[in-house]
Amino acid sequence: MIRRISTKFLLAVLAAVVLPFLGFALFVDHEMAGRLSKDVVLYSLKGLAADLALRVDRDIEEFNTNTALLAADPGSYMALDEALREEAGELEGEKPEDRVMMRGTQADQFDNWVLSKRDYDLFLLVAADGRFVASNTLDRVGRPLAPEVRTALATQNYAHEVWFEAAKTGQRFAVDQHRSDLLPPHAPDDPASAENYHIGFASPVYWPRDADHPEMSERFMGVLYTLVNWSRMQDEVESPVLKSYFQGLVGPDEFPSAYGWIWKSDADTILAHRDTSLYGESVSRSARIRLPQMVEAARASDWGLYPEYEFFGRRKNAAFKHTKAREDGGFGWIVGVGIDNDDIFTGVRELRALLFKATLVVLLVAVVWTMVIARRTTAPILALREHALRVGAGDLDGRVAVSTRDELGELAGALNTMTQELKENRERLVRAEKDAAWREMARQVAHDIKNPLTPIQISIDVAKRARDERSPEFDAIFERTVDIVQRQVAHLREIASDFHALTGARKPVRERVDLAELLAQVLELNRAYAGELGVELELLSIPAVVLGDAALLRRVLMNLVSNALEAMPNGGRLRAEIASAGGELELSVRDWGSGLPEEVRSRLFEPYFTTRSKGTGLGLAIAKRVVEDHGGRIELVAAEPGPGTIARVCLPRAPSA
Ligand code: ADP
Ligand code: MG
Repeated sequence: MIRRISTKFLLAVLAAVVLPFLGFALFVDHEMAGRLSKDVVLYSLKGLAADLALRVDRDIEEFNTNTALLAADPGSYMALDEALREEAGELEGEKPEDRVMMRGTQADQFDNWVLSKRDYDLFLLVAADGRFVASNTLDRVGRPLAPEVRTALATQNYAHEVWFEAAKTGQRFAVDQHRSDLLPPHAPDDPASAENYHIGFASPVYWPRDADHPEMSERFMGVLYTLVNWSRMQDEVESPVLKSYFQGLVGPDEFPSAYGWIWKSDADTILAHRDTSLYGESVSRSARIRLPQMVEAARASDWGLYPEYEFFGRRKNAAFKHTKAREDGGFGWIVGVGIDNDDIFTGVRELRALLFKATLVVLLVAVVWTMVIARRTTAPILALREHALRVGAGDLDGRVAVSTRDELGELAGALNTMTQELKENRERLVRAEKDAAWREMARQVAHDIKNPLTPIQISIDVAKRARDERSPEFDAIFERTVDIVQRQVAHLREIASDFHALTGARKPVRERVDLAELLAQVLELNRAYAGELGVELELLSIPAVVLGDAALLRRVLMNLVSNALEAMPNGGRLRAEIASAGGELELSVRDWGSGLPEEVRSRLFEPYFTTRSKGTGLGLAIAKRVVEDHGGRIELVAAEPGPGTIARVCLPRAPSA
């Protein structure tokens, strides 16, 4: 499989850049989800739970303190004293409005508290024997309490209320969250409303230290009991602080799911919750909740994280903190603050999406950029390859057009120089070949000329001897001699004119040449030589006309025939043949000689390649050029079956005249 350089580039970049980036992205993602996001939220939850606990503790302390302050207020014991004195008949002589003056003043003070603090529903001043003395007369929004409510309050005896009995012993006492029967429900239409619940605070009232009336000093006068509406606590757990704290997680248009809750000191009963219908439900046993592991966690420590849990189908995380215990003036409640996992991971999800997009962009940019660079890098390489292929195919005129100033540019320069040198070398070679070819021609011509000279010499010698001896046959001999000399001279003239043609004194001609006749002549010229070697000559031919230069073609045939003869120094057979092959003519010279060894076959047509001491090695090189100039092909193949060689020349037929 061929891999493109650009592909390798791409793979390298993917391996070197994209994979590490992906790894980094995954790592960041993981870290973000864990340390950067969830952990931060969990610590925040813990902090918020502690805050909420602190606020609840402060609230409770405030209610306790206010009740105690008001119990210590002169108005309280004076009002109680007034009630005692009225009972003892000490106020008989006073005007009716003066008899209840202290109690009326205290009731006014209670109303002021109710209106200004907005947390209190009831201030109830009870005498030492449990009888009603005074209360507020307005509710939190300033409406007068209904007459039947006031009557009910005024006619009750409180001597056996838990808070009364506790306060009677000198203790402050707080009543945990409950539905009070001292007042009608605030929201009768919504029984689950936090408005219908209260917490109560009782404080004993004493006559202060009094040196003037030692019998009264520090005497227990009664109890002040206050009811705080539970909506104050409900507001704390639904505080906007809790939500706004996590606003950053979800973005400006959404509301974080965070909210708080309060559990009773048993760490199992819900006192305050966003969903007020859960008031009084058991966390561990209620069918709607059933989260015993949370109860366990809240009981196990004072402050901490709940195990992750599922509440109404949502995965959540939450933290808890115990508020002040009873012995420290609190209720021992457990406050909790929780948030949906969805919210915790909103930021992570957004960042993850961002990271994902960034990864895609990086990937895309890397791939595109790599492809561009790969293109630009491989383009010169492709140009070089193209050029190398062209040079391989023999085209030495082209030049690589790579202008980059790098190694490839240098390589292109070197290649261009090399091509130029190659071209010059080839030209030199061609010139040398031409020279050698002419020398070969000259040698062959000389050889050819020698052949006719011998019969001329012999026949002249014979004629001279006949005349010297006055031979009666002289006339006949003279006749024959003249004939021989004339024929050989004609032959010589022909050779001379061939040579003349070959010197290029005239342009190579394109004339109709009968190849069969040419072949016959060549064989005839070699007949004497063949006879010497003991070679038998055969000729099989059809009329074969080609367009070309007869002199050049004759040299080719001469060479093929003499090569064949020279391969058979000890005699043999030579068969020359012309046949028709498709649209072409096929001329072959087959010998039964030494054949072609492998190392010879591949170099036959090289100029100067010869295996003979008297050879020039130019015969076949010239033959190839001539044949190809005539639009033909030449090849030498081993004869099948051997021994010997077949030299085969294919030439196009001349179009019929
Ligand atoms: P030369 O004849 O001068 O050697 P050629 O180009 O004509 O040069 O031939 C090259 C070589 O090819 C010869 O030296 C010879 O080894 C081989 N050769 C050519 N024709 C034949 C043949 N018919 N049989 C065997 N070898 C041959
Ligand atoms: Mg030869």
